[in-house]
Amino acid sequence: MAGLRCTNSNIGTFNHECGKPASWRGVHKTGHAQYFCDQCQATGDEANTVVTWTGVARSAAAEAVWAVLKAIRDDGRKAWLLGPGSNSFELLTAAHAEEIGADVAMFRREFWESCRPERVVAAPEAE
Ligand SMILES: [Zn+2]
Repeated sequence: MAGLRCTNSNIGTFNHECGKPASWRGVHKTGHAQYFCDQCQATGDEANTVVTWTGVARSAAAEAVWAVLKAIRDDGRKAWLLGPGSNSFELLTAAHAEEIGADVAMFRREFWESCRPERVVAAPEAE
């Protein structure tokens, strides 16, 4: 669903709401519901008291981009082949940063820090 924004505000921010595009709906035990971005769903102060999470539908294209980025993050061989310097990496990280409202350069740096590239070598051909 486009246009929903994260309404998490962390303690000490004078009720400043995050405002990034939301990807989660959280229901508190009081029954009060609010929206969260991925980051605030993981670490936001108001996420602590949520008892039920529901994913907010993103476009199929956005889901596909994030699925490939997760595959790169979780498989060092894919990170080796599709890391920085590849056209795929530039396009995927730009698309996802736009989707989540993040700075592209910062997202690329932080994302790549979570990757563990493993050198891929061609197997010798069988005789
Ligand atoms: Zn947020």
